[in-house]
Amino acid sequence: MNVKINKTKIVATWGPACEDENVMLEMIQAGVDVFRFNFSHGKHEKHLEGFQKVRKICDEHGLNIGILADLQGPKIRLGLVRDNLEVLETGSEIEITTENCLSTFKKIFISYENLALEAEPGDAILIDDGRVELKVLTTDRKSLLTARVVVGGKISNNKGVNLPDTKTKVPALTEKDRRDLDFALANGANWIALSFVRSPKDVEELKSIVGERNSYIKVMAKIEKPEALVEIDKIIEAADGIMIARGDLAVEVPQEKMPLIQKDIVKRCIRKAKPVVVATQMMDSMIESPNPTRAEITDVANAVIDGADAVMLSGESSMGKYPVRVIQIMEKILNNVESFDDLIYNKQLIPDKESASFLSDAICYNAARMSSELGARAIIGMTFSGYTGFLLSSYRPKAEVFIFTENKALLNALCICWGVRAFHYDRFVGTDTTIRDVVRILKERELVKEGDMIVNIGSMPLAARGRANMMKVTVVE
Ligand code: PGA
Ligand code: MN
Repeated sequence: MNVKINKTKIVATWGPACEDENVMLEMIQAGVDVFRFNFSHGKHEKHLEGFQKVRKICDEHGLNIGILADLQGPKIRLGLVRDNLEVLETGSEIEITTENCLSTFKKIFISYENLALEAEPGDAILIDDGRVELKVLTTDRKSLLTARVVVGGKISNNKGVNLPDTKTKVPALTEKDRRDLDFALANGANWIALSFVRSPKDVEELKSIVGERNSYIKVMAKIEKPEALVEIDKIIEAADGIMIARGDLAVEVPQEKMPLIQKDIVKRCIRKAKPVVVATQMMDSMIESPNPTRAEITDVANAVIDGADAVMLSGESSMGKYPVRVIQIMEKILNNVESFDDLIYNKQLIPDKESASFLSDAICYNAARMSSELGARAIIGMTFSGYTGFLLSSYRPKAEVFIFTENKALLNALCICWGVRAFHYDRFVGTDTTIRDVVRILKERELVKEGDMIVNIGSMPLAARGRANMMKVTVVE
């Protein structure tokens, strides 16, 4: 089967528009690397159906496709709205209650029980991605507040609420998140994304739960709160990957700051060899229209130039009219940017002497440099934890990065990393045999051919399963 391969990966949110197995297969052929399951919507039975379809397609076609389970996190919402439509008048004064009731244009319910306690007069309350804006006037410190409607508009059932000025004490993982996490762990998700991360502790809490279950699932922190930006380096360090969740981010921080925040976070992630996903509204108009806008084409291209590991689609793939076409168009944009030599390749990230992994970092760094000097076809690495894969990817070599691992759970997790393709391998005899073996596997799949130069990195002795400490150049026979 022919599958489009790019250096930059594509994450597509799964949903009603693409739940048909044939549509999923077409999306994968067009370039999807990871399916995202959004636990803000849908029942477990439905998600399970999707997980099983992804795995079935992988088995039938010998592919690796990642499953990213995206937890809702402490998202605050409106409840039900009278007739599912009310209009808040600009300039009017309204009441806000934290006791469940049907919302009207005079009094609305917000699903955060400590709102009256934690919000201060003057704080902004934003509804529906900031379309409606309120300012708190008074609070009784129990359950009732009054607010001025600064920007009026329509409200409807369960719309999201953002409190950019209020330091909330919501838990990082809600009860629902814990149930969804159990589901994701039990059903073989490869990545788990945590929404509204505010501090590295939020990530560590999730990682410790994952650790207790002996799972290899990787943890992605979604950056969409101003608090997260303050501790961004520590959050990147604590997480296995980062999502720049621009939907909520552009509501929570002044929207004009978002483009530079995106560039800054991408840079920091590459420096720390953590995969980074740019998400939300990349091809938004294609929910309805067969073609993206000029601005969207440029946004996708710019995310690639910034250095993102992956670009993500939300509604475009999950509920849009063109779930396959949107991937095809996105793939062409990625492909075009990647065909220019000097835009995205060969990051000169000199390894840090102070780092505990300095030795293996230096091997990977020099393998990437060597591949560029030699014009090598591929770099081949072995890994159990995934570290070598993440690290090689971060140098953004032009050569292919082929990662061999005996850790099956990792094969689909590595799908999100820029330029990485992973293969299962568990015959650890000796270094020479292993190198011969993996080259043979790649040759059989027509990924390398006679005369190609390959930079191998590995760990000797093999049996110790240590970090990379060896580099060897091979010419394919
Ligand atoms: P969401 O996250 O779609 O779960 O809100 C992405 C974003 O906020 O951009
Ligand atoms: Mn979000």
